[in-house]
Amino acid sequence: MRIDVHAHLAQFQGTCRGETYRDFPEALANLKRSMQANGIDHTILIPENYDDNPEMPGLRQMLALIGGDQSLSCLGCPRIIQEKSGDLEYFRDLLARGVIKGLKFFPGHDPHYADDERCRPYFVMCQSLGAPVVFHSTDTDSNPPGRMCGPNTDPKLIAGIAKQYPDLRVVLAHFHWPKYEYCYETTRGIPNLYFDLSGVVDDDESPGTERIREPLLKVLAEDPRRVIFGTDWMEADPTKHVAMVEALPIEENVKQMVFSENAVRTYNLKL
Ligand SMILES: [Zn+2]
Repeated sequence: MRIDVHAHLAQFQGTCRGETYRDFPEALANLKRSMQANGIDHTILIPENYDDNPEMPGLRQMLALIGGDQSLSCLGCPRIIQEKSGDLEYFRDLLARGVIKGLKFFPGHDPHYADDERCRPYFVMCQSLGAPVVFHSTDTDSNPPGRMCGPNTDPKLIAGIAKQYPDLRVVLAHFHWPKYEYCYETTRGIPNLYFDLSGVVDDDESPGTERIREPLLKVLAEDPRRVIFGTDWMEADPTKHVAMVEALPIEENVKQMVFSENAVRTYNLKL
């Protein structure tokens, strides 16, 4: 079984890897086709963290698009820079009912640091509910190209959160692309800090593909529970992500942990 814990949905004029995305249903159909082609049984989608982006669905729209499809689920994305009263209770209710599988924060995309005070009530809540929190973590970013995210998403900050909330499941997305070795060194030995592999492998000009292997193998040797498969579809190529994990010199049971078991446990998935 394969589970992708990190994918996005967008509609726009134009193509991505030869597919068109004129509206959300077409984007969703492309996702389902990609899942089938790559042997992915379940995908966790990440909505936009505000409601009026014409290209990406917010949470309410995402839940409507998913409908009753058991092969899809999604995260909630609090917008702490524009928090509305009642947001915390809104997300608490959705988490408690299993409608969303965790919360994702966008430090760097939004002007705040990962350990911003305004995130902390959500950390406390997720810790008490046993739900994961996910952080975007890259050094630079492709949207717009070259945007600096490093200081806001530094793995040191995310490691600090995991240490301060030892029963909180903290997921660091993208392995702080492309500074993988730095990410590994600053997050060693923290049992409640997990990595999703989304976006770590991409086109040939990306430094990711080769550089990720060594730090990844070190984490897996130390604690194979901490690595979770993800793709960053549609921005990144899921086929290359599957191939990267398949090519790792690890035991089959460890591969299964990365591809599915770690996701089921960390995100409380009932498949
Ligand atoms: Zn992403």
